[in-house]
Amino acid sequence: RAKEDGRGQVVAFDEQLDREREDRAFAEKRLKTAIDEDEIQIVFQPLIAAADGEITGVEALARWAPPTGTVSPEVFIPLAEKSGLIETLTRKMLLGSIRAVSCWQSLELSVNVSPIQLCNPNFAGEVKKMLSEEGFDANRLILEVTEGVLISKPDRARRSIDALRAVGVRFAMDDFGTGHASIGTLRQFGFCKVKIDRSLMSSNNDEVLKATIHLASALDIPVTAEGIETEEQARTAREAGCQLLQGHLCGKPMTVEQLRGRLMPDAHPGQIG
Ligand code: C2E
Ligand code: MG
Ligand code: MG
Ligand code: MG
Repeated sequence: RAKEDGRGQVVAFDEQLDREREDRAFAEKRLKTAIDEDEIQIVFQPLIAAADGEITGVEALARWAPPTGTVSPEVFIPLAEKSGLIETLTRKMLLGSIRAVSCWQSLELSVNVSPIQLCNPNFAGEVKKMLSEEGFDANRLILEVTEGVLISKPDRARRSIDALRAVGVRFAMDDFGTGHASIGTLRQFGFCKVKIDRSLMSSNNDEVLKATIHLASALDIPVTAEGIETEEQARTAREAGCQLLQGHLCGKPMTVEQLRGRLMPDAHPGQIG
């Protein structure tokens, strides 16, 4: 590569691309090790009934906090998706969260599933096998998916969804209100739950919120409001007809020990239950 006068700019640009490629390869390697060595933690965020504040379920969320600093799921999930690590990560999230909450038999468990996985023809079989091996009631499991996959690869997604629905697993549409998913999509894929994205909650646009909730209610699909941070947002969501609330006001994502404390406030630390 010529390093002529005046071309310094071009060379610097090439070098930057090389560096970015190296950085990504490095990050991928780090993530792979973290997944293989169980350094990805699972935290649980409560979903509470709008009517009485009762915890009806939890959403499992992945956390990666290497000594060099916490990495957000918004960064490492896309990295896992691009590098093929998402399969192992999701398997571990499913197995780990199923085992962690299995003792609380009335608690529902929500797990996020990447579009890539939903399109994998082996996915449904793997989940079914895991449920039966762990003795976990399929009715307690809710898989959260975003709408993108339903639009880009509807047939593949549909096959996984149908196969899992047949054994009782339910599906929630995550981040509803941010994209193109319509009432038709909800009906077509048999979603049992809709989660209104927190950007809609914080936009203070009650009309859009109400319209979205009415849409889902018309199909008898219970609505969860995400990102509830204030009493006022909780009131708005409740009045608009949301059945479930999720957000920092109702509970931040917590470890399973913290969850135990929340579910059984009278239990002594260390007590099994
Ligand atoms: P999500 O599934 O929509 O999860 C909700 C996100 O909102 C979580 O962010 C949660 O910590 C955050 N959140 C909850 N309540 C509040 C609130 O009151 N205020 C604010 N500002 N934020 C709130 P998190 O954990 O950073 O995860 C981000 C996204 O990464 C998730 O969005 C999900 O799409 C993805 N993700 C996380 N864990 C997994 C996983 O195990 N597998 C897959 N495929 N995706 C995951
Ligand atoms: Mg989710
Ligand atoms: Mg969401
Ligand atoms: Mg999200």
